[in-house]
Amino acid sequence: MTRLAVIGLGLIGGSLARALRAAGRVSHIAAYDRDPEQGRRGLELGVIDRFAGDAASSARDADVVVLAVPVLHTAEAAEAVRAGLSDRTILMDVGSTKVSVLGDITRVFGDLPARFVAAHPIAGTEKSGVAASRSELFRGHRVVLTPHAGQDPGALATVRSLWESVGARVVEMDAACHDAIFAATSHLPHVLAYAFVDMLTRLPNAADIFPNAGGGFRDFTRIASSSPEMWHDIVRANRVEVTGLLERQIGELQELLALMKDERWPELLMRFERARAARERHLSQIE
Ligand code: NAD
Repeated sequence: MTRLAVIGLGLIGGSLARALRAAGRVSHIAAYDRDPEQGRRGLELGVIDRFAGDAASSARDADVVVLAVPVLHTAEAAEAVRAGLSDRTILMDVGSTKVSVLGDITRVFGDLPARFVAAHPIAGTEKSGVAASRSELFRGHRVVLTPHAGQDPGALATVRSLWESVGARVVEMDAACHDAIFAATSHLPHVLAYAFVDMLTRLPNAADIFPNAGGGFRDFTRIASSSPEMWHDIVRANRVEVTGLLERQIGELQELLALMKDERWPELLMRFERARAARERHLSQIE
């Protein structure tokens, strides 16, 4: 049984707390969040046992401490929790970018601690806060671990087993490789969804557009309801990968625009067909 501390009691931190409790893996859950309302809701909902007044005291006596804050707050949260960690505490994060997190942890500790394990659950929703947390959030989803050179194998094995106990499938990869992949599958789509909705809101007939939107609009724009702070942090932390892909996407859109203006309809149709075939081919692998 593990004593858990969660720094940043939002959707992911709250869901992990609920899931580990449901799996019978934790004996006590403490938490700290800069927003006391999350602590009050967490206690009320039975997600946590104790809400601490600061990060370090929430981590004292914990076996595993989870940083579940927006990625650009990683350094600040790690610095704040540091005094509460012992030699045997495992520190883990859940951030959506991994190169920036490893860099921030290195800057705070002077080196990457052997018992720091970088993790990214490939599960979530567009909702934020502990009230939206769910114990089943990770079941059937992947969790990517990006072990580092000095990684303690015991800490890695414990983290792997915690995620597996909540129904996740754990994979390991290099941090830079992770950031390139998730820039494509997750970070760029969020940028495009925000940009699309923002462009529509500024059209002269915007007031007529939204009431007439259907299922396709809802599907395509769902992720534009995600936390702007979280996605600002992710795009900023992974800006080289995201801007590279965004430039390619802009080029692709310009090509489509040219095809339409020149009325080269068979070529436009071919591109739509190529995209649909690719999606169908990969659909079974998409969680
Ligand atoms: P969230 O907004 O629901 O929760 C984040 C919490 O962190 C908030 O309650 C906020 O008050 C708190 N916080 C911010 N800075 C803090 C600080 N310095 N000290 C203490 N608390 C602080 O966000 P979330 O969706 O739970 O995301 C948390 C992390 O999980 C992010 O790094 C995100 O990239 C990652 N993640 C999110 C998803 C998703 O779909 N939401 C999926 C995978 C990973």
